[in-house]
Amino acid sequence: MDRVDITGFSSLFRNLARDRREHVGLMFGKANRVLVYSPLKNEARVDHLFTGDPWDTVIAFTSTERYGLELVGVFHTHPCGKPRPSQYDIEGMRRWPYIWVIASPYGIKAWRYTDKGIVEIGVVA
Ligand SMILES: [Zn+2]
Repeated sequence: MDRVDITGFSSLFRNLARDRREHVGLMFGKANRVLVYSPLKNEARVDHLFTGDPWDTVIAFTSTERYGLELVGVFHTHPCGKPRPSQYDIEGMRRWPYIWVIASPYGIKAWRYTDKGIVEIGVVA
C-alpha cells in the first residue's frame, strides 16, 4: 500500500490542527519519508481555507533542493472538520498531484489524487 512516513512530525501536525485557523506547509524528504516541514504563510482571508504564500513556497523549494530533498507533499489542517479532502482541496490535488496530509482534531490522514479519483494512503507516524 502506498504510504507516507511522517515520523517526527505527527505531534507538530496534531498541535497545528488545534489552532482555529488552517495551517499549510510543504513536506520534503525522500521516498515518501518526510524529513523537513516547511510552513507557508496562509494568505486566505477566512479561517477555513488556505492559500500558501508563493514567496514562502519558492524559499522552501530552493532551501531543500541543495540537500537533495524532493517534494513529498502538501500538509494542511482542518480545525473544524474531518481529515478528508474538501472540494476545494480536490481541485488543489489535481494541480499538485503529490501526497496530501490533512490533520484535524479527528486524526491525521493522507490522500492522493489518481486517475480513479481520490484514494486514501497509509500514514506512518
Ligand atoms: Zn482542506
